[in-house]
Amino acid sequence: MRKPVRVRFAPSPTGLPHVGNIRTALFNWLFARHSKGRFIVRIEDTDVARWVKGAIEAILESLHWLELDWDEGPEVGGDYGPYFQSQRLDIYRAIAQQLVKQGDAYLCYCSPQRLEQMRAEQMRRKEPPGYDRRCRNLSAKERVRLEIQGIVPVIRFKTPLSGETRFRDLIRGRVVFDNRNLDDFVLLKSDGYPTYHLANVVDDHLMEISHVLRADEWLASIPRHVLLYKALDYKPPLFAHLPMILGPDRSKLSKRHGAVSTLDYREQGYLPEAIVNFLALLGWSLDDRTELISREQLVRYFSLKRIAKTGAIFNIDKLNWMSGVYIRQLDAEDFLERVLPFLETGLPQSIERPLSREYVQQIAPLIQERITTLGEAAEYTEFFFVEELDYDRALLSTDVTDEVALEALRAAKKGIQDLDSFDTSSLEGVLRPLASELGLKTGKFFGLLRVATTGRTAAPSLFQTMAVLGRERCLQRIEAALNRLGG
Ligand code: GLU
Repeated sequence: MRKPVRVRFAPSPTGLPHVGNIRTALFNWLFARHSKGRFIVRIEDTDVARWVKGAIEAILESLHWLELDWDEGPEVGGDYGPYFQSQRLDIYRAIAQQLVKQGDAYLCYCSPQRLEQMRAEQMRRKEPPGYDRRCRNLSAKERVRLEIQGIVPVIRFKTPLSGETRFRDLIRGRVVFDNRNLDDFVLLKSDGYPTYHLANVVDDHLMEISHVLRADEWLASIPRHVLLYKALDYKPPLFAHLPMILGPDRSKLSKRHGAVSTLDYREQGYLPEAIVNFLALLGWSLDDRTELISREQLVRYFSLKRIAKTGAIFNIDKLNWMSGVYIRQLDAEDFLERVLPFLETGLPQSIERPLSREYVQQIAPLIQERITTLGEAAEYTEFFFVEELDYDRALLSTDVTDEVALEALRAAKKGIQDLDSFDTSSLEGVLRPLASELGLKTGKFFGLLRVATTGRTAAPSLFQTMAVLGRERCLQRIEAALNRLGG
């Protein structure tokens, strides 16, 4: 019988989660959900020197935000725990000892200084770096001598001195490594913590992981892992190394390309739906044209077969486009709920809080079509909330002379003063004919009114905007514009 699918996302808390980390998490999650298997989160926190405070929280928070729920791991537990490697040290120590006992590993007493010197020598002689195996064949006597000196040894793996290590990657196909290029790598450090290699292999085995889907950069570790699986007599999982993510210029992805940590996207107001869609296409595709694809469809159609071999291009313009599409797809109520917190935090503090929900409800439809991220909402709507507009007087007379502007604004003021109802169609009904009465092109007249009522040259539809602002505010603002023009 085929073993059930069990995949894991195994982040190290050495930094905030970035696009690459979360793409790995997403692919594992999609594969688990598609295969009705289990998605496990395991925290690989064995490199104590590189722990970053808050990293674990940020990783888990990113998964929550994107709704990548896990079946086993931190917060939820499970039968294969603990899921923090720092809580499994006894397991790794025992296995490292076992490898020493069976002759596949040995104690190494070389000091960091000696290793440093050795590396410098190797560099000078232009030799490949790697441990020179000095302690590989220590006699019992030599070992005792070193032990008495109180040196705490590390445990190193005895890498075969010749031959090849092969394995088959589900994406890359057959990969062959020459064992002579591998040194005797460390399994257990002198602080008692395992290295990534040992802990990763042991846990994938003990947690019965069926498939390892991880970033391409780990491919270089594979020969060591394969040798360890063999020495421990474990059956290795299947491996699938995901293509590297590159910037549009094909260089290593960085901030310069708009790639920021996952929670920064949340802060900027990208919808999680858009991020999931976007990340899924970083190295996977449904066919050669589909761009918009829902979470449900992703789960239904995800397959390892359609993961690309070549680098995936991260294009921030595409993400922005997608983000806008997902925002426009929200129903009015949902959009309101999501945009409100961004207005609460994004609008100037001088504006009274909490914001009026009813008022925001009227404004929301005017911007839903126009924004790319929820974070832009505050900037787009500030003029709806402030008491006084702050704009350059010159904007009032870009298209017309001051005299014409004064005349037009006076006429508009009069026109809207006694309107029966102050709604979009009544406003249009009075202002459109007024343009021709004034002998002005509608574009010029409406442009002028837009500046007077919003302080900007680009804003949502003029009549809708004025209707939401209300008569009182519009009249005040036209009055203020007249004053600016010296009228
Ligand atoms: N801890 C490694 C990382 O941070 C995991 C690599 C793997 O999935 O084997 O990416």
